[in-house]
Amino acid sequence: MEDGYVTIARAITSITYPATFMLVGAMNPCPCGYFSAPNHECTCTYTKIHRYRSKISGPLMDRIDIHVEVPAVPYKDLASQNNATATSADIRKHMKRARVIQSDRLKRTKIH
Ligand SMILES: [Zn+2]
Repeated sequence: MEDGYVTIARAITSITYPATFMLVGAMNPCPCGYFSAPNHECTCTYTKIHRYRSKISGPLMDRIDIHVEVPAVPYKDLASQNNATATSADIRKHMKRARVIQSDRLKRTKIH
């Protein structure tokens, strides 16, 4: 992750690909999902929470630079049609732009 490339080695050959990326992940704060939630009570024990969080390995956690606690979004806000800001046409335009950027990024490689 830190070197910005990944090498895949097989019996006959190995190949190195550029692998500069941003990893964005999410997880619940505890098995029930309500740890530190203002409107719900967490029912998890300390041991359960510790066991749950230890599923993510220490070396992986050490490489994640930013940890942000995101409060739950109420269902009525998720279900509301008023919050839709991007149309399919908008998303298509963003995807086309991303493909151009990626194509430009890899133009001096043999990677397609
Ligand atoms: Zn909980």
